[in-house]
Parts: sequence; structure tokens; C-alpha cells
Amino acid sequence: MEKGYMIGVDIGGTNIRIGAAREGGMLEAFEKTSSQAILAGEQAVEHLIDFLRNYMHEKLKSQEIEGIVLGLPSTLNAARDHVIQTPNIEGLNDVPLKKLLEEALHIPVLIERDVNLLFCNDADRLSLDPAGINIGVYVGTGIGNAIFIDGLPYAGTDGTAGELGHVYIGRRGKVCGCGNEGCAECYAGGRRLVELREEAYPTDKIGKLFQSHGEDAALIDFVDTVAAMVAMEVNILNPGAIVLGGGVLNMEGFPRERLIEAIHRHTRKPLPEKMLKVFFSEDASENGVRGAIIYARIRNKAKRAVA
Ligand SMILES: [Zn+2]
Repeated sequence: MEKGYMIGVDIGGTNIRIGAAREGGMLEAFEKTSSQAILAGEQAVEHLIDFLRNYMHEKLKSQEIEGIVLGLPSTLNAARDHVIQTPNIEGLNDVPLKKLLEEALHIPVLIERDVNLLFCNDADRLSLDPAGINIGVYVGTGIGNAIFIDGLPYAGTDGTAGELGHVYIGRRGKVCGCGNEGCAECYAGGRRLVELREEAYPTDKIGKLFQSHGEDAALIDFVDTVAAMVAMEVNILNPGAIVLGGGVLNMEGFPRERLIEAIHRHTRKPLPEKMLKVFFSEDASENGVRGAIIYARIRNKAKRAVA
């Protein structure tokens, strides 16, 4: 029986969010702090260790702690113990993070892609049937993609499964942050909206683009491109459920009905189109932390079942 706290940490480019919960309990001691303050520079891991140690002493009063789960905006290896690369966080490149944290803190540590932890939170909130395949597509600055098989995230041979934002969608002219030309997220991610605003609506606030200009061809095309990307994965995997979320899809006036209609339009008929189950994720600051704690419980249950 697990009696202690599980700590969830959601590391983003802007904020680090952290919280803790006992099994079956509410999220406690939730807080948000600037990523820059902790992760800037080469000492990122040392500072992260200090931050976690302080949190355990000050917020949880050093009560029993079962483990820590960290969600990272990073490329991880398949074994999920090594951070291969983290855009914009220099100190989290090529780091054996799990080992370093476990040695310093003397508690079990799990590291996972942030998007997979977001999906854990959504799957729990929506009570999705974990059997078979379920997917999540989160449209933020880039595209986050979660592929779950029988309730656990699919990592792929090298750890990089679920790079849906980097499929080539037949367009040329834009070079992606990954170095390839024509990746989907160049046309269907938040960065594209920033570009569109600069090109066509320089006086508008980015958050109001869909509300004010949702019927313009460029924004209709944006939504259709998101749909094409989702439908591509649906046609390949035939998932039981599709969860859609991220900051862009939660913008005011974002045309969810149009997106769903376009996903149906691009999906193979009669199946899987006829049976599509599409859900939306609701944006909340705690989602990643909550998802991290849920993920730890799922992993522990799976481990106990094997044992
Ligand atoms: Zn790319």
C-alpha cells in the first residue's frame, strides 16, 4: 500500500509547476515558479535538485514521499532515464536525469514526456477505456502527440514516437525548428498563428484571432491542417478515443465544430470515420502535475500486476 506523497512536476519553457498527492487524495501544495530562475545556465540539474529538496522539506514537511514524476518538454530515450534534448533549456541536454535525481534525493524518480502526462490527466478525467490505442493531439506553440497502448504511453524504438508535428504534409517553403522542411507544425501550430498575426493582423491580440477572423481563408486553412494531421494518425492507428487540446484549441472562438467536421472529412470511410470518438481537453494550470501523479499510480499498478 502506498501511504506517502507522490510528487508531480511539470517542467515547461516558461513555468515549473509542482504539487503532491497521497493515493486517492486531492492535489496539495500546488505551486508555480519561473523555469528561468531554476533551469537557466549549465547548473540546471543542481538547481532542480535544490528546488525539489526545498519543496519536500518546506511544503511537505519531509513527510513520507513515494516518488517524483517529472514531465519534460524534451526528447527522452526509450528507457526513460536520459534526457536527450530539450529545446531552449541548455542544461537539460544529454543528461542522465533519472539517475542524478535518484542519487541526490534517495527516492524513486520517473521522467516522461510532458504531453504523455497531460494525456494521463485527460484519460482519467474522461474515464477513457485504457484497452487498445488512445491518442492525444495538443496544439500549443508546437504539436504534442500522445499515443497510449493499453493505458501506457508508447515510446517507440528510440523514445521518439508521437512526433506528429513533424510529418510532411506536402507543403514547401517553411523550415521547422527540427531542421526539416514543411513539417505539419509549421502550418498547424501556435508559431504559425504568430506569423499569421504579424502578416495579416498586426493590431490584433493573438488570443482573439479566431474570434475576430475565424472565417478568413488563412484561419480556415489552419484548422483544416490541424484536422488533416489528426486524421492521418487516426487512419493509421484507428484509436478508440481522440483527445484534442492545447492552448490554441482553447483560444476564444476556436471553431471546434469546424475542426471535428474536418477530421471526419479527412478520415477513411466508412470506418474508422463512422465510429470516431473525439473529446476536448480543458486547459488548467494543474493538468500536467495531476497527470504526472496519475501516471505514477498507473505505472506502479502495472508493475505490481507483473510481479
Ligand atoms: Zn519538424
